[in-house]
Formats: sequence, C-alpha cells, structure tokens
Amino acid sequence: MDCGSIAQAQHGVSAAILSVGDELMLGQTQDTNAKWLASQFTLRGVVVREFRTVHDDLADIESMFRELSARHDILVITGGLGPTDDDLTREALRRAMDVVEPLEVDEQALADLDRWFKDRGRPMTANNKLQALRPKGARCLKNSWGTAPGLHASIGRARIWCLPGPPREMEPMFETEVAPHLPRAVMATAAVHSFGQGESFLAEILGARMSRQRNPLIGTTASGSIVSARIRAVNEAATDAAMESAMQEVEQLWAPYAFGRDQETLAGALGKLLILRGERVSLAESCTGGLTASFITTQSGSSAWFAGAAVTYANGAKIDVLQVPNELLVAHGAVSAPVALAMARGCAALLKTQWSASITGIAGPSGGSETKPVGEVFIGICGPRFEAVKKFHFPGERAAVRDRAAKTALALLRLALLGEKEFAAPIIWESHK
Ligand code: ATP
Ligand code: MG
Repeated sequence: MDCGSIAQAQHGVSAAILSVGDELMLGQTQDTNAKWLASQFTLRGVVVREFRTVHDDLADIESMFRELSARHDILVITGGLGPTDDDLTREALRRAMDVVEPLEVDEQALADLDRWFKDRGRPMTANNKLQALRPKGARCLKNSWGTAPGLHASIGRARIWCLPGPPREMEPMFETEVAPHLPRAVMATAAVHSFGQGESFLAEILGARMSRQRNPLIGTTASGSIVSARIRAVNEAATDAAMESAMQEVEQLWAPYAFGRDQETLAGALGKLLILRGERVSLAESCTGGLTASFITTQSGSSAWFAGAAVTYANGAKIDVLQVPNELLVAHGAVSAPVALAMARGCAALLKTQWSASITGIAGPSGGSETKPVGEVFIGICGPRFEAVKKFHFPGERAAVRDRAAKTALALLRLALLGEKEFAAPIIWESHK
C-alpha cells in the first residue's frame, strides 16, 4: 500500500503560528500558546512549518502578516486583540489586507461586549468598544471566555485566525472557531524508549527505516540518557496496526535496550517484570543517595514490588546496616566490585527481597584519584541464582553522574530479570579497565 510520505502530506497544507507581544520578546512570558497550537495542529495532521514572534509593533505585525500569508495556507496569530494602545493586531490586519477604509464596528461583537459587561454589572469603558472593530472583509469570532473577540480573514490563499493572548481564552476559541475548519487529516504518534546505548549507535541500527520519505516516519531523540524513537504516521498509515508493527520493529531492533513505550519509565518497566514474577527489589545506595529509590517511588503502585532502600554513605553505615565486612573495605575501598556485591547481598538479606541493586562510586567533582577517577561507579546486582557487578565510567558533572548511575541500576535490574544474555549486553559507559 502506498500511503504517501509524511513529507507529501505535510506539503498538502502548511500552517504558521505568529505570537505577538513585548512580554514574549523580552523573555518575561513563555510562549506556551505556540507550543499548544503546534500540538493541536499535529494531532489533526496539519504540519506547522514556521513559528514567528514579534513585538507589539504595528509595522512588524503587518509585515509578518504579509510574509506568512504568502507562504502558508493557515496562519494563527495570538495576542494584541485587547482594548489597550499596545493591542495592534486589528489595525495590522487591516493594513496587510490592503483595506483602505478605517476599521469598522461589528454590531454583533459590540452587542456581545455590551452583554458581557452587563452580565457582570460593570460599566463598559470607551476603549473596550475598540475590541468590536474589525477590518472590512474580516469576521469577528465570538469569545465566550473573555472580552476580546477573535478575527477571521483571508489574504491570498491564506486563511487567518487571530486569537486573544491569554491561554484560557485562546485554547477554547481554537477548539470552537479554528479546529472545525481545518482539513481532515489523521496523525498518529508513538514513542519507543531505550536506555544503555548512544543515539548515533541506535539510529544506525534503524538505518533506512529513518528515511524522511517513510510513512510512518521514525526519528530519534535523546533526553536524560534515554534515547527514544518517535514514530509518526499520517492518513492511511495512521492505523493502530501500522503503529503497532512500527513500534515492534523498533523494539526488536533495539533489544534489549528498548524498555517501554510512550509514558513508560525505566522504573515502571522494572516493576512490570517484578510483578509478573511476584518478586520484590531493594536498593543499597551510596553515591546516588536515594535517587534510584526516588525514581522507583515516583511510580505509583511501586510498593507492590519495592521494599525500600538503604542509603549507606559512610563506610560505617555500610558495615553497620548492610553487614559489609570491614576487611573488604580496607582491602578494596568502598568504590570496588567486592564491596558493591557485599552491599547488594546485605541489602537483600536486610530487607528480605529476592532482588537487590547496589550503587557505589565517585560522583565528583572532588574525591577522585588516579586509580579511581570521578565518574567511576560499581553497580552490583543480586537475585535468585544471580550475582554480578559491572563497572562504569559515567561522564559529566555530579548531577549527571548520579542520574546516569541511578538509571543504569534500574536498567541492569531489568536486564538481569530478562536473563543472562540480556544482562551481558554492553552498556555505553561500561568500563573494562
Ligand atoms: P487581552 O484582552 O487580555 O489584552 P490580548 O489578545 O491583547 O488579550 P495580549 O495583551 O497580547 O493579548 O496578552 C495578554 C496576556 O496573555 C499576556 O500578558 C500573557 O499573560 C498571555 N499571553 C499572550 N501571549 C501569550 C503566549 N504566546 N503564550 C502564553 N501566554 C501568552
Ligand atoms: Mg492585550
């Protein structure tokens, strides 16, 4: 079946978003409108090809109207529709439409405004009436959530919607006034998440499947050491079956590193496996100071499979709480494979769990040495008929080392639960020195 590429679908209809406001340009307000609108367009299969932002400046807004309407089919602009002197969208639209007559009163909009103030028992000031003005040839859009009506007009092939800036007015107005008029395209999106390998390595495995001509289209993103495949399909390819098979294909190619889809987390994936087996896990944390436990307990329902964590930072705590033999600490140091293993064993015994992971290392920036550099971390795993330690060298600042160490501990537990072969899969930061 030839579904046509996403690129073709994208070329079908092109949209632009224009945000107006000094406060955006000055960095005082975050432009959440553009993000929200883009997600709404995406949901409906309309691709946003351009974002622009300008000051409350008449000439700037006018030229942006002209430029964007020459390039796109759909233009949504937010802000500058209120009653004050810095609200210039109406006038800029009139100029960009080459309407020579001054703005005219929209009787319906004026009546709506009148009602709005009457309902609230407030007098309508003169400047509020300005909001009922529109360029000849434009249509006012009812705003049931605030005072400033929106505007709809066309310039050339472009259909233009002007919406008020406040999100609580803009969002419902988009739903009632814009969404029903968008072309009907379907878009489906999904994600497959992985941990343990770099983005370039994983992208290479996907190879030609990442071609921009494909539908579904697969791309990769990386965030917080999690590399994700983002899958997008439009129109005929946006079926549950096509998305499922695309996700399965990525999961197989990325095995055993692929751990979950969409909202799934590393801790959640681990929890699933433990619940299936009716087993529980505990943690012995040193340099991560409870971060791993925090990732787990962020997950609701984790009490079913997580017993608890011992944060044993000092050697004394490792001895007293986890029964790590003093001789091991003296002979190998706290950051070593034998101590990591003893911590995991001691923790499993203390908290009576089938599984336990330990994390001991040097998060930096101080505390490193020639033989034990900053970023060196040992992670021990013990489980039923399973014991292993892996040594890592995590790059980055203290926070990055701790984050990577905690996530790696969760990933190793997951891999150990899957089996010996999976556990043996190399992790990008593994150190064999
Ligand atoms: P109003 O009738 O409230 O004056 P308006 O259409 O004139 O509406 P603006 O004056 O430009 O809109 O913006 C009003 C407020 O809306 C801003 O102070 C800001 O809090 C919010 N706002 C405007 N634009 C955005 C945006 N792009 N993203 C998020 N919030 C925004
Ligand atoms: Mg305003």
